[in-house]
Amino acid sequence: MEKLDINNAMYKQVLVAVDFSENSYLAIEKAQKMAKFCGANIELIHVVEIPTYPILEDVAVMGMPGIWDDDIAKSLISASDEKLKKLANDIDVISFKTIEGIASIDIVEYAKQNKCDLIVMGTHGISGFKALIGSTTNSIVNHACCDVLAVKLKD
Ligand code: AMP
Repeated sequence: MEKLDINNAMYKQVLVAVDFSENSYLAIEKAQKMAKFCGANIELIHVVEIPTYPILEDVAVMGMPGIWDDDIAKSLISASDEKLKKLANDIDVISFKTIEGIASIDIVEYAKQNKCDLIVMGTHGISGFKALIGSTTNSIVNHACCDVLAVKLKD
């Protein structure tokens, strides 16, 4: 029988997707336990989503002329980064990153670029609609190059 290589079975770089929802806080707790067990590094990521509006059936433009501009984007990113920094400090996590983009696409890309072998996230986010798995989670499970752990809220 083939011997189990325990080092290969362990995760080494765990990325936790945080939208500041109750579900994502549970995901952090689970990820911290998992990282401790595996001796893995853990990093929190938050994506500030820029509003998009459709201009053609299959074309959308990022930003909202007259409403959304670079200054608003910068202050939102900076406020979100402060919030993430405080959260990371409170729970003793050293690495955290706030990026601008689309959560379902850019978390997958970030995980790939940073050689993450596990993404941990909530089954649902701030919208909290419980019947279906959240759209961000659904997309990341389908497109990530690594394992994805979707953490459920208890009843
Ligand atoms: P959703 O699919 O949008 O209901 O969210 C499900 C999970 O995706 C949340 O619990 C978070 O773990 C993650 N997530 C959603 N939006 C973001 C975001 N903007 N930045 C980071 N993680 C997110």
